[in-house]
Amino acid sequence: MTKTSDIVVVGGGVNGTSIAMHLSKTLGGKVTLVEKGGLATGATGRSGAMIREHYLTPELVRIASRSKTFFEDWPGEHGYDLKFKRTGRILLFGNVDEKAARLNGEMNRREGVSIETLGMAETSKILPEANLEDIEVALYEPDAGYADPVATTYAFAKEAKRHGATILTNTKVSEIISYQGKVTGIKTNSGDIESGIVVNVTGPWANSLLSPLGETLPITPIRVQMVHLRRPPSLGTLEQIVIDHTCGSYYRTDGSPNTLIGGEAPEDIGETVNPDHFGLNADHQFIVRYWERAIKRFPEFQNAICRGGYGSLYDMTPDGNPIIDASETIENLYNVTGFSGHGFKLSPAVGELVSELVNGSKNRTDELNLFKASRFDTGNEIIPKHPYGMRAHQ
Ligand SMILES: Cc1cc2nc3c(=O)[nH]c(=O)nc-3n(C[C@H](O)[C@H](O)[C@H](O)COP(=O)(O)OP(=O)(O)OC[C@H]3O[C@@H](n4cnc5c(N)ncnc54)[C@H](O)[C@@H]3O)c2cc1C
Repeated sequence: MTKTSDIVVVGGGVNGTSIAMHLSKTLGGKVTLVEKGGLATGATGRSGAMIREHYLTPELVRIASRSKTFFEDWPGEHGYDLKFKRTGRILLFGNVDEKAARLNGEMNRREGVSIETLGMAETSKILPEANLEDIEVALYEPDAGYADPVATTYAFAKEAKRHGATILTNTKVSEIISYQGKVTGIKTNSGDIESGIVVNVTGPWANSLLSPLGETLPITPIRVQMVHLRRPPSLGTLEQIVIDHTCGSYYRTDGSPNTLIGGEAPEDIGETVNPDHFGLNADHQFIVRYWERAIKRFPEFQNAICRGGYGSLYDMTPDGNPIIDASETIENLYNVTGFSGHGFKLSPAVGELVSELVNGSKNRTDELNLFKASRFDTGNEIIPKHPYGMRAHQ
Protein backbone atom coordinates (compact mmCIF):
# COMPACT_ATOMS: atom_id res chain seq x y z
CA MET A 1 0.00 0.00 0.00
CA THR A 2 1.27 3.47 -0.85
CA LYS A 3 1.99 5.59 2.21
CA THR A 4 1.20 9.29 2.36
CA SER A 5 2.83 12.26 4.04
CA ASP A 6 2.48 16.03 3.91
CA ILE A 7 6.23 16.51 3.68
CA VAL A 8 9.05 14.06 2.98
CA VAL A 9 12.59 14.94 4.07
CA VAL A 10 15.22 12.81 2.30
CA GLY A 11 18.48 12.36 4.27
CA GLY A 12 19.00 11.54 7.94
CA GLY A 13 22.08 13.64 8.70
CA VAL A 14 22.12 16.51 11.15
CA ASN A 15 20.49 18.88 8.65
CA GLY A 16 17.76 16.46 7.57
CA THR A 17 16.82 15.68 11.17
CA SER A 18 16.94 19.36 12.18
CA ILE A 19 14.63 20.18 9.27
CA ALA A 20 12.26 17.33 10.20
CA MET A 21 12.27 18.55 13.81
CA HIS A 22 11.51 22.17 12.92
CA LEU A 23 8.92 21.29 10.27
CA SER A 24 7.07 18.87 12.54
CA LYS A 25 7.03 21.50 15.30
CA THR A 26 5.80 24.37 13.17
CA LEU A 27 3.70 22.69 10.52
CA GLY A 28 1.38 20.48 12.49
CA GLY A 29 1.14 18.18 9.43
CA LYS A 30 2.70 14.79 8.84
CA VAL A 31 6.46 14.81 8.24
CA THR A 32 8.35 11.68 7.14
CA LEU A 33 12.15 11.52 7.11
CA VAL A 34 13.69 8.85 4.87
CA GLU A 35 17.33 7.76 5.26
CA LYS A 36 19.05 5.08 3.15
CA GLY A 37 21.28 3.84 5.99
CA GLY A 38 21.24 4.64 9.69
CA LEU A 39 20.94 8.19 11.05
CA ALA A 40 24.18 10.20 10.88
CA THR A 41 25.92 7.66 8.64
CA GLY A 42 26.84 10.30 6.03
CA ALA A 43 29.22 13.21 6.64
CA THR A 44 27.53 13.96 9.95
CA GLY A 45 28.77 10.90 11.82
CA ARG A 46 32.37 11.67 10.86
CA SER A 47 32.17 15.38 11.56
CA GLY A 48 34.48 17.39 13.79
CA ALA A 49 31.19 18.91 15.01
CA MET A 50 32.87 22.12 16.13
CA ILE A 51 30.53 24.95 17.04
CA ARG A 52 31.60 28.56 16.70
CA GLU A 53 30.25 31.93 15.72
CA HIS A 54 33.27 33.44 13.94
CA TYR A 55 32.52 33.80 10.24
CA LEU A 56 33.73 36.23 7.61
CA THR A 57 30.35 37.58 6.52
CA PRO A 58 27.90 39.21 8.98
CA GLU A 59 24.92 37.13 7.80
CA LEU A 60 26.76 33.87 8.49
CA VAL A 61 27.86 35.16 11.89
CA ARG A 62 24.20 35.79 12.78
CA ILE A 63 23.10 32.34 11.58
CA ALA A 64 25.97 30.67 13.48
CA SER A 65 25.12 32.68 16.62
CA ARG A 66 21.47 31.61 16.56
CA SER A 67 22.58 28.00 16.12
CA LYS A 68 25.07 28.20 18.98
CA THR A 69 22.39 29.52 21.32
CA PHE A 70 20.18 26.61 20.24
CA PHE A 71 22.95 24.10 21.10
CA GLU A 72 23.61 25.82 24.44
CA ASP A 73 19.95 25.96 25.40
CA TRP A 74 19.13 22.44 24.32
CA PRO A 75 19.65 20.35 27.50
CA GLY A 76 17.37 22.44 29.70
CA GLU A 77 14.74 22.78 27.06
CA HIS A 78 14.57 19.27 25.66
CA GLY A 79 16.31 16.77 27.88
CA TYR A 80 18.33 14.70 25.33
CA ASP A 81 22.05 15.31 25.59
CA LEU A 82 23.88 16.72 22.54
CA LYS A 83 27.14 16.47 24.53
CA PHE A 84 28.02 20.08 23.81
CA LYS A 85 31.38 20.88 25.40
CA ARG A 86 32.64 24.44 25.64
CA THR A 87 36.42 24.38 25.09
CA GLY A 88 37.26 27.75 23.52
CA ARG A 89 38.71 28.06 20.03
CA ILE A 90 41.84 29.89 19.03
CA LEU A 91 42.78 30.85 15.47
CA LEU A 92 46.44 31.47 14.67
CA PHE A 93 47.48 33.79 11.81
CA GLY A 94 50.82 34.58 10.16
CA ASN A 95 51.61 37.94 8.57
CA VAL A 96 49.71 37.11 5.32
CA ASP A 97 46.39 37.02 7.16
CA GLU A 98 47.08 39.44 10.00
CA LYS A 99 45.10 42.37 8.60
CA ALA A 100 42.12 40.22 7.59
CA ALA A 101 42.09 38.57 11.04
CA ARG A 102 42.01 41.93 12.83
CA LEU A 103 39.22 43.25 10.56
CA ASN A 104 37.18 40.06 10.86
CA GLY A 105 37.64 40.09 14.64
CA GLU A 106 36.21 43.64 14.71
CA MET A 107 33.28 42.71 12.46
CA ASN A 108 32.46 39.66 14.62
CA ARG A 109 32.55 41.79 17.80
CA ARG A 110 30.21 44.32 16.16
CA GLU A 111 27.83 41.39 15.53
CA GLY A 112 27.94 40.56 19.24
CA VAL A 113 30.35 37.58 19.17
CA SER A 114 32.56 37.15 22.21
CA ILE A 115 35.90 37.09 20.37
CA GLU A 116 39.21 38.60 21.42
CA THR A 117 42.14 39.70 19.28
CA LEU A 118 45.28 38.50 21.04
CA GLY A 119 48.98 39.32 20.87
CA MET A 120 51.59 36.63 21.37
CA ALA A 121 51.99 36.99 25.15
CA GLU A 122 48.28 36.32 25.70
CA THR A 123 48.26 33.56 23.07
CA SER A 124 51.12 31.66 24.68
CA LYS A 125 49.29 31.78 28.03
CA ILE A 126 46.41 29.90 26.37
CA LEU A 127 48.70 27.59 24.36
CA PRO A 128 51.90 27.25 26.42
CA GLU A 129 53.09 24.24 24.38
CA ALA A 130 52.81 26.01 21.00
CA ASN A 131 55.66 27.28 18.88
CA LEU A 132 54.38 30.72 17.86
CA GLU A 133 57.45 32.12 16.09
CA ASP A 134 55.63 32.58 12.74
CA ILE A 135 52.35 33.82 14.29
CA GLU A 136 51.46 37.53 14.29
CA VAL A 137 47.99 37.57 15.79
CA ALA A 138 45.33 35.24 17.18
CA LEU A 139 41.55 35.37 17.53
CA TYR A 140 40.06 33.67 20.57
CA GLU A 141 36.43 32.62 20.96
CA PRO A 142 36.11 31.45 24.58
CA ASP A 143 32.55 30.17 24.15
CA ALA A 144 33.17 27.89 21.15
CA GLY A 145 33.30 24.13 21.50
CA TYR A 146 32.04 20.93 19.97
CA ALA A 147 29.14 18.50 20.31
CA ASP A 148 28.64 14.82 19.55
CA PRO A 149 27.33 14.75 15.97
CA VAL A 150 25.72 11.33 16.28
CA ALA A 151 24.02 12.11 19.60
CA THR A 152 22.83 15.44 18.15
CA THR A 153 21.29 13.81 15.07
CA TYR A 154 19.51 11.16 17.14
CA ALA A 155 18.28 13.87 19.54
CA PHE A 156 16.87 15.96 16.68
CA ALA A 157 15.19 12.84 15.24
CA LYS A 158 13.72 11.96 18.63
CA GLU A 159 12.40 15.49 19.01
CA ALA A 160 10.90 15.31 15.50
CA LYS A 161 9.18 12.04 16.46
CA ARG A 162 7.85 13.66 19.65
CA HIS A 163 6.15 16.19 17.36
CA GLY A 164 4.61 13.46 15.23
CA ALA A 165 7.25 12.84 12.53
CA THR A 166 7.96 9.36 11.18
CA ILE A 167 11.63 8.37 10.78
CA LEU A 168 12.35 5.64 8.24
CA THR A 169 15.93 4.33 8.18
CA ASN A 170 17.44 1.75 5.80
CA THR A 171 15.06 3.10 3.19
CA LYS A 172 16.66 4.33 -0.01
CA VAL A 173 14.90 6.88 -2.18
CA SER A 174 15.36 5.82 -5.80
CA GLU A 175 13.37 8.62 -7.39
CA ILE A 176 11.58 11.87 -6.65
CA ILE A 177 8.28 11.68 -8.52
CA SER A 178 6.56 14.64 -10.14
CA TYR A 179 3.50 15.27 -12.27
CA GLN A 180 3.01 18.31 -14.49
CA GLY A 181 5.96 20.09 -12.92
CA LYS A 182 4.89 19.50 -9.31
CA VAL A 183 6.33 17.04 -6.84
CA THR A 184 4.01 14.17 -5.96
CA GLY A 185 6.18 11.92 -3.82
CA ILE A 186 9.11 9.50 -3.76
CA LYS A 187 9.89 5.94 -4.75
CA THR A 188 11.86 3.88 -2.22
CA ASN A 189 13.16 0.33 -1.97
CA SER A 190 10.24 -0.40 0.35
CA GLY A 191 7.40 1.28 -1.49
CA ASP A 192 6.25 4.70 -2.63
CA ILE A 193 5.31 7.64 -0.42
CA GLU A 194 2.90 10.23 -1.80
CA SER A 195 3.75 13.72 -0.70
CA GLY A 196 3.06 17.22 -1.96
CA ILE A 197 6.40 18.52 -0.64
CA VAL A 198 9.87 16.93 -0.74
CA VAL A 199 13.04 18.35 0.85
CA ASN A 200 16.27 16.91 -0.55
CA VAL A 201 18.94 16.96 2.18
CA THR A 202 21.23 14.28 0.80
CA GLY A 203 24.54 16.16 0.86
CA PRO A 204 27.01 14.78 -1.68
CA TRP A 205 24.28 12.51 -3.13
CA ALA A 206 21.92 15.41 -3.93
CA ASN A 207 22.46 15.34 -7.69
CA SER A 208 21.77 11.62 -8.00
CA LEU A 209 18.12 12.43 -7.19
CA LEU A 210 18.04 15.71 -9.13
CA SER A 211 19.71 14.73 -12.42
CA PRO A 212 16.79 12.51 -13.58
CA LEU A 213 14.57 15.60 -13.10
CA GLY A 214 16.81 17.68 -15.35
CA GLU A 215 18.41 19.66 -12.51
CA THR A 216 22.06 19.69 -11.47
CA LEU A 217 23.45 21.69 -8.58
CA PRO A 218 27.12 22.78 -8.48
CA ILE A 219 28.10 20.30 -5.76
CA THR A 220 31.30 18.29 -5.83
CA PRO A 221 31.77 15.33 -3.48
CA ILE A 222 35.25 15.73 -1.99
CA ARG A 223 37.07 13.21 0.16
CA VAL A 224 38.61 14.71 3.30
CA GLN A 225 40.72 12.97 5.92
CA MET A 226 41.06 13.12 9.70
CA VAL A 227 43.88 11.77 11.86
CA HIS A 228 43.90 10.77 15.54
CA LEU A 229 47.06 11.38 17.56
CA ARG A 230 47.31 10.25 21.16
CA ARG A 231 49.02 13.15 22.94
CA PRO A 232 51.99 12.50 25.23
CA PRO A 233 51.39 13.78 28.79
CA SER A 234 54.00 16.52 28.12
CA LEU A 235 51.51 18.13 25.72
CA GLY A 236 49.07 18.81 28.53
CA THR A 237 45.38 18.79 27.84
CA LEU A 238 45.33 20.92 24.67
CA GLU A 239 41.67 21.47 25.50
CA GLN A 240 41.07 24.36 23.13
CA ILE A 241 40.21 23.93 19.49
CA VAL A 242 43.14 25.33 17.49
CA ILE A 243 42.85 26.51 13.87
CA ASP A 244 46.26 27.04 12.30
CA HIS A 245 45.73 29.42 9.40
CA THR A 246 49.37 29.19 8.28
CA CYS A 247 48.84 25.64 6.99
CA GLY A 248 45.08 24.95 7.13
CA SER A 249 45.21 22.34 9.91
CA TYR A 250 42.85 22.20 12.86
CA TYR A 251 43.05 20.40 16.20
CA ARG A 252 40.41 19.37 18.65
CA THR A 253 40.48 17.07 21.63
CA ASP A 254 37.75 14.45 21.87
CA GLY A 255 37.67 14.58 25.64
CA SER A 256 40.28 11.80 25.93
CA PRO A 257 44.07 12.14 25.43
CA ASN A 258 43.39 11.99 21.68
CA THR A 259 43.56 14.99 19.38
CA LEU A 260 41.57 14.89 16.18
CA ILE A 261 43.43 16.64 13.34
CA GLY A 262 41.94 17.77 10.06
CA GLY A 263 43.10 19.93 7.19
CA GLU A 264 41.47 22.46 4.91
CA ALA A 265 44.36 23.75 2.84
CA PRO A 266 43.65 23.43 -0.90
CA GLU A 267 45.85 20.29 -1.10
CA ASP A 268 43.78 18.68 1.70
CA ILE A 269 40.46 18.96 -0.08
CA GLY A 270 41.32 18.26 -3.69
CA GLU A 271 40.12 14.68 -4.17
CA THR A 272 36.81 14.42 -6.03
CA VAL A 273 35.17 11.03 -5.41
CA ASN A 274 32.09 8.92 -5.97
CA PRO A 275 30.24 9.27 -2.62
CA ASP A 276 29.32 5.56 -2.73
CA HIS A 277 32.95 4.41 -3.20
CA PHE A 278 35.72 6.27 -1.44
CA GLY A 279 38.57 5.39 0.91
CA LEU A 280 37.23 5.18 4.46
CA ASN A 281 40.67 5.05 6.08
CA ALA A 282 43.24 7.87 6.10
CA ASP A 283 46.11 7.60 3.59
CA HIS A 284 49.65 7.27 4.90
CA GLN A 285 50.71 10.48 3.15
CA PHE A 286 47.93 12.47 4.88
CA ILE A 287 48.85 11.07 8.28
CA VAL A 288 52.47 12.13 7.70
CA ARG A 289 51.44 15.58 6.37
CA TYR A 290 49.14 16.37 9.31
CA TRP A 291 51.58 14.94 11.84
CA GLU A 292 54.46 17.05 10.45
CA ARG A 293 52.32 20.19 10.63
CA ALA A 294 51.33 19.26 14.18
CA ILE A 295 54.97 18.88 15.24
CA LYS A 296 55.84 22.24 13.71
CA ARG A 297 53.14 23.97 15.77
CA PHE A 298 53.35 21.79 18.92
CA PRO A 299 56.82 20.16 18.99
CA GLU A 300 55.74 17.64 21.66
CA PHE A 301 53.55 15.93 19.05
CA GLN A 302 56.78 14.22 17.94
CA ASN A 303 56.18 11.88 20.91
CA ALA A 304 52.55 11.26 20.00
CA ILE A 305 51.13 7.86 19.11
CA CYS A 306 49.22 7.66 15.86
CA ARG A 307 45.86 5.98 16.25
CA GLY A 308 44.98 6.05 12.57
CA GLY A 309 42.46 8.15 10.79
CA TYR A 310 39.51 8.09 8.48
CA GLY A 311 38.13 9.48 5.26
CA SER A 312 34.83 11.30 4.89
CA LEU A 313 33.00 13.65 2.51
CA TYR A 314 32.45 17.35 1.96
CA ASP A 315 29.67 18.42 -0.42
CA MET A 316 31.57 21.42 -1.83
CA THR A 317 29.96 24.30 -3.70
CA PRO A 318 32.05 26.85 -5.64
CA ASP A 319 31.84 29.47 -2.85
CA GLY A 320 32.03 26.95 0.01
CA ASN A 321 28.54 27.76 1.27
CA PRO A 322 25.27 25.84 1.19
CA ILE A 323 22.33 25.93 -1.16
CA ILE A 324 18.98 26.34 0.65
CA ASP A 325 16.44 26.92 -2.07
CA ALA A 326 13.34 25.80 -3.92
CA SER A 327 14.09 23.69 -6.98
CA GLU A 328 14.21 25.62 -10.24
CA THR A 329 12.53 22.81 -12.18
CA ILE A 330 9.96 21.14 -9.92
CA GLU A 331 7.44 22.97 -7.75
CA ASN A 332 7.41 22.09 -4.02
CA LEU A 333 10.79 20.39 -4.19
CA TYR A 334 13.44 22.03 -1.98
CA ASN A 335 17.19 21.45 -2.00
CA VAL A 336 19.25 21.90 1.17
CA THR A 337 22.76 20.77 0.47
CA GLY A 338 26.35 21.82 -0.29
CA PHE A 339 27.41 22.54 3.29
CA SER A 340 31.05 22.38 2.20
CA GLY A 341 32.45 21.13 5.51
CA HIS A 342 30.78 23.55 7.94
CA GLY A 343 27.16 22.45 8.12
CA PHE A 344 27.07 20.89 11.57
CA LYS A 345 27.16 24.10 13.56
CA LEU A 346 24.58 25.73 11.27
CA SER A 347 22.05 22.89 11.45
CA PRO A 348 19.64 24.36 14.06
CA ALA A 349 19.27 27.62 12.14
CA VAL A 350 19.05 25.69 8.84
CA GLY A 351 16.07 23.76 10.21
CA GLU A 352 14.38 27.05 11.12
CA LEU A 353 15.16 28.63 7.74
CA VAL A 354 13.84 25.66 5.78
CA SER A 355 10.68 25.56 7.81
CA GLU A 356 10.17 29.26 6.94
CA LEU A 357 10.96 28.60 3.27
CA VAL A 358 8.45 25.74 3.07
CA ASN A 359 5.81 27.67 5.01
CA GLY A 360 6.24 30.70 2.76
CA SER A 361 7.13 33.00 5.67
CA LYS A 362 8.85 36.25 4.74
CA ASN A 363 10.71 36.71 8.06
CA ARG A 364 14.14 35.68 6.89
CA THR A 365 13.96 36.37 3.18
CA ASP A 366 17.34 38.17 3.24
CA GLU A 367 19.11 35.15 4.64
CA LEU A 368 17.33 32.76 2.28
CA ASN A 369 18.25 34.97 -0.70
CA LEU A 370 21.89 34.54 0.27
CA PHE A 371 21.72 30.76 -0.23
CA LYS A 372 19.89 30.67 -3.56
CA ALA A 373 21.29 28.22 -6.13
CA SER A 374 21.08 30.91 -8.84
CA ARG A 375 23.82 32.96 -7.09
CA PHE A 376 26.42 30.95 -9.00
CA ASP A 377 24.96 32.11 -12.34
CA THR A 378 24.26 35.70 -11.35
CA GLY A 379 27.63 36.59 -9.81
CA ASN A 380 26.19 36.71 -6.27
CA GLU A 381 28.41 34.11 -4.63
CA ILE A 382 29.05 34.57 -0.94
CA ILE A 383 32.51 36.15 -0.99
CA PRO A 384 33.97 37.48 2.25
CA LYS A 385 35.30 41.04 2.28
CA HIS A 386 38.48 39.96 4.07
CA PRO A 387 39.21 36.32 3.19
CA TYR A 388 42.02 34.25 4.70
CA GLY A 389 44.63 32.78 2.40
CA MET A 390 44.98 29.18 3.46
CA ARG A 391 41.47 27.87 3.96
CA ALA A 392 39.49 26.60 1.02
CA HIS A 393 36.19 27.40 2.71
CA GLN A 394 35.87 30.48 4.89
C1 LIG B 1 35.73 15.32 8.54
C2 LIG B 1 34.66 16.35 8.69
C3 LIG B 1 34.77 17.32 9.67
C4 LIG B 1 33.78 18.30 9.80
N1 LIG B 1 33.86 19.20 10.82
C5 LIG B 1 32.86 20.10 10.99
C6 LIG B 1 32.88 20.98 12.09
O1 LIG B 1 33.79 20.92 12.91
N2 LIG B 1 31.86 21.86 12.23
C7 LIG B 1 30.84 21.94 11.32
O2 LIG B 1 29.97 22.80 11.47
N3 LIG B 1 30.79 21.10 10.28
C8 LIG B 1 31.76 20.19 10.09
N4 LIG B 1 31.72 19.32 9.05
C9 LIG B 1 30.62 19.42 8.11
C10 LIG B 1 29.34 18.80 8.64
O3 LIG B 1 29.63 17.60 9.29
C11 LIG B 1 28.40 18.56 7.47
O4 LIG B 1 28.22 19.77 6.75
C12 LIG B 1 27.04 18.10 7.97
O5 LIG B 1 27.17 17.00 8.83
C13 LIG B 1 26.20 17.73 6.77
O6 LIG B 1 24.99 17.21 7.24
P1 LIG B 1 23.83 16.88 6.20
O7 LIG B 1 22.69 16.39 7.00
O8 LIG B 1 23.63 18.05 5.31
O9 LIG B 1 24.47 15.74 5.26
P2 LIG B 1 24.90 14.23 5.57
O10 LIG B 1 25.32 14.03 6.97
O11 LIG B 1 25.88 13.84 4.52
O12 LIG B 1 23.56 13.46 5.38
C14 LIG B 1 23.02 13.15 4.10
C15 LIG B 1 22.27 11.84 4.30
O13 LIG B 1 21.50 11.57 3.14
C16 LIG B 1 21.43 10.17 3.01
N5 LIG B 1 21.04 9.84 1.63
C17 LIG B 1 21.75 10.09 0.49
N6 LIG B 1 21.08 9.66 -0.58
C18 LIG B 1 19.93 9.13 -0.13
C19 LIG B 1 18.81 8.49 -0.77
N7 LIG B 1 18.77 8.33 -2.09
N8 LIG B 1 17.80 8.04 0.01
C20 LIG B 1 17.82 8.21 1.36
N9 LIG B 1 18.86 8.78 2.01
C21 LIG B 1 19.89 9.24 1.27
C22 LIG B 1 22.85 9.73 3.35
O14 LIG B 1 22.90 8.36 3.70
C23 LIG B 1 23.19 10.66 4.50
O15 LIG B 1 22.94 10.09 5.76
C24 LIG B 1 32.68 18.32 8.90
C25 LIG B 1 32.57 17.35 7.92
C26 LIG B 1 33.54 16.36 7.82
C27 LIG B 1 33.39 15.31 6.77
